[in-house]
Amino acid sequence: MTSFSPNMLKTFETCPQKYWFKYVQKISMPQKASYFEKGKKVHALANYYLRGDDISKLETALNTDERIVWENLKQNEFFQKSYVNSEYNLSCKVGEYWIGGRLDALVKDENFYYILDYKTGQIPKNPEYDYQTMVYLLCASKKFGKNIKFVYIDLKNNQNCVIDFDKDYEKPILEICDKIKNTQTSVERSKKCDFCEYRKICI
Ligand code: SF4
Repeated sequence: MTSFSPNMLKTFETCPQKYWFKYVQKISMPQKASYFEKGKKVHALANYYLRGDDISKLETALNTDERIVWENLKQNEFFQKSYVNSEYNLSCKVGEYWIGGRLDALVKDENFYYILDYKTGQIPKNPEYDYQTMVYLLCASKKFGKNIKFVYIDLKNNQNCVIDFDKDYEKPILEICDKIKNTQTSVERSKKCDFCEYRKICI
């Protein structure tokens, strides 16, 4: 049984044909590694730190840019709340579909649980209805109850985007999952193709 991740849902919405290449045919195409490098390092470091590992040696290996971002995260008010879990896999059932993903971290205070998502690049344009927000909030709420918020930590601009769990997220998730189940893929070329890693094999 497939469990739909936020990336799967986003990919389908961008282009059903791309979804077919990536998640049905499981064809992976190379992408520029450097683009993800800083984000990867900070995510790994944050996970070790929250778990209580000694990260002093790893910290000295950071370059200037990475150090600024890492210090921003360490000082962040949400990152400093009580640790529950990190790199945390959660899934749940919505209608007939399984959805899920891996949270960067889950923390709490006396009132709420907070799903943390560290961003070294842009936060989503419409964060309240981003598939990541919706999938993670739904999954976490089924396990921890409705007193839960999603926090995008924008490390570049050193600010937070906090989203309450007060909307009907099941409906849009069911809609996109139904579409995936029922759509026949077809190639419709558009501007998005210029930036697609599959364009070389796409007709
Ligand atoms: S090249 Fe265009 S149509 Fe083909 S998979 Fe990529 S985005 Fe979709």
